[in-house]
Amino acid sequence: MAYIVADPCVKCKYTDCVDVCPVTCFYEGLNTLVIHPDECIDCGACEPECPTTAIFEEDDLPEKWTVYTPLNAVFSGAEEPEDVDMDGWPQHLIDAATSDSFEPWPCIDEKMEAMEGADDCAEEENKLSAFSPDPPEE
Ligand code: SF4
Ligand code: SF4
Repeated sequence: MAYIVADPCVKCKYTDCVDVCPVTCFYEGLNTLVIHPDECIDCGACEPECPTTAIFEEDDLPEKWTVYTPLNAVFSGAEEPEDVDMDGWPQHLIDAATSDSFEPWPCIDEKMEAMEGADDCAEEENKLSAFSPDPPEE
């Protein structure tokens, strides 16, 4: 079992969660984070820190966001794209994850500034179409 970063993180990336994780198992994309499910020790420390309530224990993940379980696994590098169920993934994420140039995201080990406009985006729902498969800017 592991914790999952879900929809509310997209376009926000406050990264308060990163600061409290004892095992540094967050991975950073261009506009969201994911958790490596095999590295997460299920301590729960990150969940209350998230200003957007984006983090859930896998069993408590709202049904509408179950797609985030394989997204966390693939973009953190825990699972190969061909080994997960991509049902419900938007086409741009399927294309990215199955392309020859696909690479999982880098680990993030310290808090950084939230994304520009994060406070407005925190109120938005259904941000899956905006989930970028790209790594963070250098
Ligand atoms: S604390 Fe920030 S970076 Fe971490 S999951 Fe929540 S919104 Fe995303
Ligand atoms: S539950 Fe604990 S180990 Fe897992 S991501 Fe959150 S802080 Fe890290």
